[in-house]
Amino acid sequence: MNTPLRIGMDIGGTKTEAVAIDAAGDVLATTLLPTHSGVAAVLATAQLAVEQLASALGCAVSDFASVGVGIPGQINRDAGEVQLAYNLRIEHLALAARLGERTGLPVSLENDVNAAALGAAHLLGLDGTVVYLNLGTGLANGLVVDGELQRGACGVSGEIGHLPIDPLGRPCPCGQRGCLETAASGAALRTYWPAGGEHPGRSLLPAIDAGDSDASAAFEHLVRGTATALRMLVLLLDPHTIVVGGGLRLLGPRFFDAVATRLDEWARESPFIAELHIGARLRPLPEGSPAAAVGAALAANDPAQKSCADAAKR
Ligand SMILES: [Zn+2]
Repeated sequence: MNTPLRIGMDIGGTKTEAVAIDAAGDVLATTLLPTHSGVAAVLATAQLAVEQLASALGCAVSDFASVGVGIPGQINRDAGEVQLAYNLRIEHLALAARLGERTGLPVSLENDVNAAALGAAHLLGLDGTVVYLNLGTGLANGLVVDGELQRGACGVSGEIGHLPIDPLGRPCPCGQRGCLETAASGAALRTYWPAGGEHPGRSLLPAIDAGDSDASAAFEHLVRGTATALRMLVLLLDPHTIVVGGGLRLLGPRFFDAVATRLDEWARESPFIAELHIGARLRPLPEGSPAAAVGAALAANDPAQKSCADAAKR
């Protein structure tokens, strides 16, 4: 096959989405499989996704040039390893080598939020400085400048969820207190509204409509926390565009309108904030966008990243 086809894969907690893209980055085929947690199941699902894409395109697995995998957890791109991906029940996995053995293809790994940032900038045709804010169970962002993913010195860039906003605030799973993630994330929403159960984002709006005042208060807290995160991103990075993705974006226009209203209120109180035009920079990631899978395919060509330990030796 003449065209170098690349595979990108987004291994999430509930589903694995894989795409095949051509040299221009256009998606030629897509497959979606349920993710089952644990090392063996994750590897089997990833291998099956590659085989299904080959089948869909009527080619052999060996016709693909590379596989890029976006996955949550701590990624060592240099070693091709992922560790502490708790929602996949993976403590440590040499995923690049193991999937490479099964497929015969070169495999590279990328943090899932970074992959989504690169894919969103590509799919939405965004130039300049693009921030992707993942408003999921946790809170993190990716940064793309002129089409290039910015990972920082050792890949830590974008862990905005652990910016300390209140040293006396609520405990965070990272072991500190008052991190931004304790105010703006699915985990924060669970704390604000324990009655909402494990997936409060799904039942929040119906509960508000039914007159649940606790749900309304939780919504307002989440809106304020999200607006705070957006304000920080603009002040830190001054991006042209902030794409908002992650599970909580499925709260939809009502949520985004409430965030915009909060930003407008701050702008009325402060000429300085008004000049930032934060709301005008926002763009929800379209529902069903394969941004993370596409971005993982695109990132596969990037050079390997030094580990933090190696970076510190310089
Ligand atoms: Zn934290």
